Amino acid sequence: MSLRLNAIQNLSNTDNKGVVSDNTKTVMDNTKSITNVFASSVFTLEVARQYLSNDAYKALRESIRDNQKIDRTIADQIANGVKAWATSKGVTHYTHWFQPLTGTTAEKHDSFFTIKSDGSVIDEFDGGALIQQEPDASSFPSGGLRATFEARGYTLWDPSSPMFIMQVGEGFTLCIPTIFISYTGDSLGFKGPLLKTTIALNKAATNVCHYFDKSINKVTATLGWEQEYFVVDEGLLNGRPDLLECGRTLFGVVSAKGQQLEDHYFGSIPERVYAFMRDFEMESYKLGIPLKTRHNEVAPSQFECAPIFENVNVAVDHNCLLMDIMDRVAKRHNLRVLFHEKPFAGINGSGKHNNWSLGTDTGINLLSPGKNPKSNLMFLTFFVNVIKAVHDHADLLRASIASAGNDFRLGANEAPPAIISVFVGSLLFEVLEELQTGVTNGKVFDKHNDHQRMDVVKNLPELLLDNTDRNRTSPFAFTGNKFEFRAVGAAANCSNAMTVLNTVVADTLVYFKKEVDMLIEKGEKKEQAIVTVLKKYIASAKPVIFEGDGYSEEWQQEAAKRNLPNIKNTPRSLNAMITNKAKDLFERNNIYSHAEIEARYEIEVEKYIKNVKIELKVMRDMVATQIVPSSIKYQNVIVQNILGLKQLGYLDNTYKAQDKLLQDISLQLSTLQQLVGELEKATQVADTKASTTDKAIAYCEDVKDKFYDPIRTCVDKLEGLVDDQFWTLPKYRELLILR
Ligand code: ADP
Ligand code: MG
Repeated sequence: MSLRLNAIQNLSNTDNKGVVSDNTKTVMDNTKSITNVFASSVFTLEVARQYLSNDAYKALRESIRDNQKIDRTIADQIANGVKAWATSKGVTHYTHWFQPLTGTTAEKHDSFFTIKSDGSVIDEFDGGALIQQEPDASSFPSGGLRATFEARGYTLWDPSSPMFIMQVGEGFTLCIPTIFISYTGDSLGFKGPLLKTTIALNKAATNVCHYFDKSINKVTATLGWEQEYFVVDEGLLNGRPDLLECGRTLFGVVSAKGQQLEDHYFGSIPERVYAFMRDFEMESYKLGIPLKTRHNEVAPSQFECAPIFENVNVAVDHNCLLMDIMDRVAKRHNLRVLFHEKPFAGINGSGKHNNWSLGTDTGINLLSPGKNPKSNLMFLTFFVNVIKAVHDHADLLRASIASAGNDFRLGANEAPPAIISVFVGSLLFEVLEELQTGVTNGKVFDKHNDHQRMDVVKNLPELLLDNTDRNRTSPFAFTGNKFEFRAVGAAANCSNAMTVLNTVVADTLVYFKKEVDMLIEKGEKKEQAIVTVLKKYIASAKPVIFEGDGYSEEWQQEAAKRNLPNIKNTPRSLNAMITNKAKDLFERNNIYSHAEIEARYEIEVEKYIKNVKIELKVMRDMVATQIVPSSIKYQNVIVQNILGLKQLGYLDNTYKAQDKLLQDISLQLSTLQQLVGELEKATQVADTKASTTDKAIAYCEDVKDKFYDPIRTCVDKLEGLVDDQFWTLPKYRELLILR
């Protein structure tokens, strides 16, 4: 029996469903309440208070708050406390947990256990082991930053993200969040640059805050991600080499009951998935991931979860951890979770909305309109600066969300287009309009002159309260008290998008302050100077504001008129990373050196090529070893049938239908063969390109764009012709309807 038919049969078999809900208990088990388990595996500051000396505790706290360095003797003390806590919880090993540019997380475990020179056995963990480890970096992408003879890389402790204990089966490991750098100090991971942006942004934003409120000492970028994902039965997935190796289906007829009925969104969650969700949520709570919502998404078998927002560094770590946990827990339930941006054609793909804002140490959300005119001007200042930053660096933001997977989703009438625009809502649109032009229609501002205008901003919060309209088609939307960067792909590490967003906002704020200060020096009043510069910024950034339907054809044309970049594929969009403008931007904000950003570009381009190559290989294999054989097998049955009818003396016209079917299948098979041959040639041409950039563009535009769809069309036609019993690949209807 084929894997497919076997898996289908297994679907109704309860033993196959892994851990399912236990409904025999009628009273809730209190030990499992979220508040009881939350962060129970995390070395929180409260735990630190118990296990550390006063000095060590203070040093750790300050390092979290102000990025203070921790010296070696204090680190020894912290390591000791951490070891005591961890071993009390059954931990035997520790690891530096880091995020290399492969996109997944990495770890290398060492045990605490050591043998001393006198032969005695002890647990050992000192400040050195806490602060730095030296994993072999040679198998991680470096984009040429690391000479092959110098394979060493270093991981360095990030005290601002708490340590945690990861449980896998019976094993408990202490995980230390770290940044990953090369021997020469160049950044090789995601976390290092992100942390640098938080420093730049804090400085720039705090300085601007001081125009309004001198008591603010720190500004933190906050992130609340929304993770979309698909869940499929593991048995069925094993029958799909494309899902296994590429994370998405390369072929498959869209099932009759796709998402047309719109009955999945917010519908009741299937029991098997529900059991999986509760399981991964519990694991997440233990690790301090503050998950808040879960629900069905638009497509069948698609779901979403979202946490309460946190500071961007911890939020990114938590998203990486969550993806890892979900992957692991799914297997316990004989399920598989798919984070790919477009696992199935014809239905929605998955994104990861990045809700982003700026919070002060005094508890103010800078993107939330305040209670009085002064705080509203502060809100407008940050609001306008963000819009200006997005306008000025739209190409770089586009590059930050580029990936082979996301290419299938962006602009496919389900996700934001590749054009970066900002949605602000009708009321704020008017506010900006009136602030800029000084012409008031009386809705927001009562008076015409700038001075009076300040007073009138006070009406803002109440007005906004009932006016936060929604626009699902915008890649970057203001949603009342935060911006939502919606174009981020579901599989992405949020760091890329957040690093760029933080940098461009920090940079814009620095210039803003310079301009305002210049006007103040010339004798303008502070508020007046701020309004003057804001007016200028609104005027220049206005083209990026779009309130209409981002999916529409008209917007493509309108955006072109406005000169907004509309870069449709990854290889071309990545170029924005290495323009002189971008390199200087990153350098002056101390995020990436020129060499570092060039290396990152190289890594992204190579990743893209590798991705297409894997898909091509899987595509050829599936055609040769599954699609063609299934089709021929079925043809043989038809041939037998025709021969039999002939033998019995039936006339030609009695087997006309069979004849037609034979021809239809043959036509698809020969077209398929021809396409695969041409594809081969196009690949060879792509491989002759000298630079990786040109190679990636050729793989995208001359291979992928030209051949993916026609090949798929042939295969899908065959799926519609060949006897279901002969078809070895699990079909969409089976994959998408979980039982
Ligand atoms: P929706 O699906 O309507 O966009 P959700 O409730 O699913 O809304 O997600 C909203 C996300 O925005 C949550 O992750 C939430 O924590 C986050 N969020 C709310 N306020 C902020 C903020 N100030 N900064 C960052 N993220 C925020
Ligand atoms: Mg959202």
